[in-house]
Amino acid sequence: MIIHWGVIIDATMSTVVSIYILQQIDTKIDRNNERIRRIEIILADRRVVEQASEDLDKATDTMRSASQECTAVQGEIDIVTSKHESGEKRLYSGTVTNPKELKDLQDQGDALTRRIMELEDKKLNAMIVEEDCKDALEEVVRQYDTVVDERGVLQEELRLESKSLSNDTVKLAAEREVALNSIPVEVLGNYNNARTKYRGVAVVLVNDGMCSGCGMGVSTASIQAARGGDTMVNCDNCNRFLYVK
Ligand SMILES: [Zn+2]
Repeated sequence: MIIHWGVIIDATMSTVVSIYILQQIDTKIDRNNERIRRIEIILADRRVVEQASEDLDKATDTMRSASQECTAVQGEIDIVTSKHESGEKRLYSGTVTNPKELKDLQDQGDALTRRIMELEDKKLNAMIVEEDCKDALEEVVRQYDTVVDERGVLQEELRLESKSLSNDTVKLAAEREVALNSIPVEVLGNYNNARTKYRGVAVVLVNDGMCSGCGMGVSTASIQAARGGDTMVNCDNCNRFLYVK
């Protein structure tokens, strides 16, 4: 014996009550399946993480280029400085006595000094750029970590929800089997047809003398018959099964 929404489901139940319960079970199963389907779509959609990963790659590349530029400028400074030092050494070594050669060495030394100053400016700018890139990269890393963490939490929640819905559906399927015992095959056929036609809802309540499916009035005779619970009564307008509480 199974108790469903406070109603004891067993093989002796009237067809009308059984079909009403069947409808409730099927509606719940449909909702579970729809939610599970949506969860699968959300889980398959990894665009946010992929975008964050792309941003991270880009910021890492930019940072690498900035660092390489700093290193390159420093390399150039080292070469020019070394050239300048050897020129100075030669200039003051006393081995060069020719005035023209001394003048050339002096000019060359001045030119190299100017070049070193230019390169130092260039290096300073490159270091500022590198610092900015470093800050930007740190921010992107923080964003990436947040996105990945949030995604992990969401996935976990959705997987648990999906699992719980699946378990619920298994229980509902067992209840459904029991409800089916009191429903004649031809009634079940009509029920299935109406479910297909009306997006899963074959059984509707009568509220204030109206069919809650289509909104049309239901005759007093039909309401009485439906209330009796012995015969299946259909709405004259939409043909769905009527159930009176
Ligand atoms: Zn109707």
